[in-house]
Amino acid sequence: MVSKPKAFVTKPLFPSVCALLEQHVDAEYWTEPDRIPRAELLCRIADKDALLCLPTDKIDDELLDAGPKLHLVATVSVGYDHVNLDACTKRGVIVTNTPGVLTDTTADLAFALLMAVARRLVEGDAWTRSGTWNGLAFDTFLGADVWGKTLGIIGFGRIGQEMARRAIGFKMRVLYSSRNRAPDAVESELRAEFATMDTVLRESDFVSLHVPLLPATRHLISAENLAKMKPAAFLINTTRGPVVDEAALVHALETATIAGAGLDVYEQEPKVHPGLLARKDVVLAPHIGSATVETRTAMARVAVENAVAFFAGKKPPNALNAPKA
Ligand code: NAP
Repeated sequence: MVSKPKAFVTKPLFPSVCALLEQHVDAEYWTEPDRIPRAELLCRIADKDALLCLPTDKIDDELLDAGPKLHLVATVSVGYDHVNLDACTKRGVIVTNTPGVLTDTTADLAFALLMAVARRLVEGDAWTRSGTWNGLAFDTFLGADVWGKTLGIIGFGRIGQEMARRAIGFKMRVLYSSRNRAPDAVESELRAEFATMDTVLRESDFVSLHVPLLPATRHLISAENLAKMKPAAFLINTTRGPVVDEAALVHALETATIAGAGLDVYEQEPKVHPGLLARKDVVLAPHIGSATVETRTAMARVAVENAVAFFAGKKPPNALNAPKA
């Protein structure tokens, strides 16, 4: 009997998806609630052909050295800034991700953060629960309107465009900057205007970030760029923490350079800058952009389908690199 390839999975991926995986590979899972310690991961992959991982698992030369039999790394995420793609390519390790299935869910969360921070929802919730609320008041918890305002989107890919679609329902003007201009048909369907990043920063009431984390986008939102935003504007970040200079953001909030922020991601997760934790004008989510039952199940399924295709000798649908010639 031919033995099945071996896979290590850094988190169980829902029973139905695990069942699919197990039809094709011998799967071993990390089942503890906390994420797998690095040393344990390095040990577990020694004899594995594939690794199904999360953005918290750094895929670098050290890991590839520890897993000399690895042929496939399937990350259960669209972002792959935790993967050294060049190192994988050099060793002939194929890398796959899960684009598309989390687009709407992540845009929903970005819009939820935008609404929550503009309308002071989290602050209001805490006040209502505190028992100190003594009835409707005309002049408390005054937030900022969302409808009719200008939404600036930086990075107009899948999630950025879905953010624009949501803004239509709120009668917002949408400005966007991105590496490339979207086709006319997309601009007109989403009523989005292409602009420079400077214009987006200067004219928007809400700036929402949707670029991947790359060397070119690390600290894209710097002190200098925060200073271009309106004092009444809010920053929304659901992409990756290091896209924002977090210390500069705290300073911008402290000096009222901007009005607030809605954040799902942080520079040094799970650490959050103490200057953010202390503030009421920020809404903080624990990296839950794609965290719905439906979407996480779909992401897991896509990762497994990539592995199944790979071990069937086919090109995985979401391969990010190509095998060595
Ligand atoms: P995408 O479709 O690839 O969109 C990214 C967009 O950013 C593309 O339009 C890209 O332009 C543009 N871009 C790339 N580099 C740029 C630069 N230097 N300056 C300006 N624009 C640039 O990706 P997506 O599916 O929307 O996902 C975006 C990111 O969201 C992911 O990389 C991930 O990190 C993050 N994310 C977070 C969560 C969460 O849980 N919080 C969930 C899902 C995704 P081109 O088209 O020219 O490449």
